[in-house]
Amino acid sequence: MDKPRGIPIVISSPSGGGKTSIYVELAQRHTEFFYSVSATTRPRRAGEENGVQYHFLDEAEFMRRRTAGDFLETARVHGHWYGTPRGPLERALGRGKDVVLDVDVQGGDSIRRVYGDEALLIFVVPPNLATLRERLVRRRSEEPALVERRMANALDELRRAPEYDYIVVNDDLRRAVDEVEAVITAEHLRSSRLAGILDERFPELGEG
Ligand code: 5GP
Repeated sequence: MDKPRGIPIVISSPSGGGKTSIYVELAQRHTEFFYSVSATTRPRRAGEENGVQYHFLDEAEFMRRRTAGDFLETARVHGHWYGTPRGPLERALGRGKDVVLDVDVQGGDSIRRVYGDEALLIFVVPPNLATLRERLVRRRSEEPALVERRMANALDELRRAPEYDYIVVNDDLRRAVDEVEAVITAEHLRSSRLAGILDERFPELGEG
């Protein structure tokens, strides 16, 4: 049987929702997944490396690539452009690799439109808003005005959580990652993805 296509796995959360730590832990546990690296026009933060967390582009180059159709989806988030490069993602899915995408709710919506039920959408939520605010304030890269903007944004994003397939509450990192793993495992076992497996294992079924 041909290797089944990989699953596009979207992990979204409001910023400060703890998604990055989940992402890092997942990447440690699962080196076999392909982690999509987005392009962005946002300035690089301390410790970030071009090509690792993001491909950092100026606006002209981002727009050039967008017009050329290089992105599967693009969105403006917190005043900057973000885009998912199409080629690497499509090639990984074709090789049967699951692809993990860290995108916002607009990105989740686009991925759902492109891949339909083939995509798995997971929304990570913080335990409550007070924790979210604490996490945002603790991030030294965020100015106070930015914290308020991100809090308002977070509420808008949280309202869209029901559009996702699963919701994971991130109060304990290891448990949250266990839950993400459980959801991915279950997704692989969907009967719709395993159409060929019955025929392959039970050829007798075709004879009756
Ligand atoms: P940050 O700038 O803090 O790394 O990310 C800000 C937001 O942009 C996060 O919610 C992140 O998930 C989202 N984001 C990152 N890359 C992409 C992308 O390629 N497309 C979309 N739609 N959102 C993205």
